[in-house]
Amino acid sequence: MAKIPEAQHRLFKNVFVCKRCHSKIRADPRKILEGKIKCRKCKTKAFRPLRKK
Ligand SMILES: [Zn+2]
Repeated sequence: MAKIPEAQHRLFKNVFVCKRCHSKIRADPRKILEGKIKCRKCKTKAFRPLRKK
């Protein structure tokens, strides 16, 4: 049985970066897509995955 890397994968996958102030925020991808997550600083809903740099 191979070790499951999903845990670490999720840690990165659940992190998003605000497009305005570039602050990192960790949230459920579904909530991001649904627009339920707002940036704490600038309160915008525009986020992009941390991977895409
Ligand atoms: Zn922001």
